[in-house]
Amino acid sequence: MTSKPLSLYLHIPFCASKCPYCDFFSGRYPDETKTAYVRALTEEIKTLRRSSAFLPADVLDRPLSSVYFGGGTPSVLGAAALSDLLNAVRSRFSLLPDAEITAEVNPSVADPDRFFAALADAGFNRVSIGMQSAVDEERKKLGRRAGKREVARSVDAAKRAGIGNISLDVMLGIPLQTEKSLVETLDFALSQNVPHLSCYLLKLEPGTPFFKMRDRLNLPDDDTAADFYLITCEYLKTRGMRHYEVSNFCFADKIGRHNMTYWTDGEYLGLGPGAHSFVGGVRFFQPPDLDAFLSGAPAAYEDTGGDEEERLMLRLRTDLGTPASAFPNKKALLAQMEQNGLLTLTDGLVRLTDRGYLVSNQVIGALLS
Ligand code: SF4
Repeated sequence: MTSKPLSLYLHIPFCASKCPYCDFFSGRYPDETKTAYVRALTEEIKTLRRSSAFLPADVLDRPLSSVYFGGGTPSVLGAAALSDLLNAVRSRFSLLPDAEITAEVNPSVADPDRFFAALADAGFNRVSIGMQSAVDEERKKLGRRAGKREVARSVDAAKRAGIGNISLDVMLGIPLQTEKSLVETLDFALSQNVPHLSCYLLKLEPGTPFFKMRDRLNLPDDDTAADFYLITCEYLKTRGMRHYEVSNFCFADKIGRHNMTYWTDGEYLGLGPGAHSFVGGVRFFQPPDLDAFLSGAPAAYEDTGGDEEERLMLRLRTDLGTPASAFPNKKALLAQMEQNGLLTLTDGLVRLTDRGYLVSNQVIGALLS
């Protein structure tokens, strides 16, 4: 019997500079810290020492269906370090022949031809490029240096290296954004002929510079931001993209397989400070503390996960839908929500509409109450 595949997430907590809206566990660090981190992460991949208290005995028998280098900005480590880390993964785990191997990349990466060729040589077959906006003034407000030229250069270089499975990130509801500038960004993203776009609404996270200066940011109001989301969904769908998750769109079958694991009961192991895991029905995480990780601090228990309620909730984020029979006492509510345009009921499946995704927490909360 083949063991159930697992997904592996590696957190790279480094960025060239800190974007003012970001609350991810990441920051600027000197090269020595990066070197020490690569060493510690390599050791963790090979020994799984920090996570060992939570891992079932058969964890290494489970083939990897995906490996995802996220952050932070993994590309700041350079292609050689990323390749070394991937080699460490291969030395410890087996990978499915069609495993998806993704690195998040900043478009201003130096010498993109060399960089992407080295990634492809090491076995990376997917990249996610942080574009956010195609409009200079908007990007500047976001603290982003790279422009359209750098994005196009990186996309071309990745394709030349044989990595055609490319995703671009787009942000919605950002300072200065208008309907016209949003369409400009979407048109530019589509012009790059990439198979995947992730389009996220800006969330003001407490503790970030954006949160503190929110009244001075010239942000679209909530209704306008919601309109931007609906415009984006419609715009991309009418151009042939599948809206397969709240914020994710793809052509053909190019869904982000790693992220789909999170929404469809899949199990994943996360290594690095701030990384979360769900293995053997238990959730645990590595505390978001770089020094603690470097000195070998163990992962911490989070909770047991994967119950029916959680499964339904996560699946409703996707276009796979959830059987209506899972809500036997909510027939009237489902009918009312369908009438209000928040969901559809087809072939016995509940699927949220774009409007439903906008208020998904409330919709899901009401269905599960
Ligand atoms: S590059 Fe990404 S992870 Fe780094 S600070 Fe900016 S948004 Fe956060």
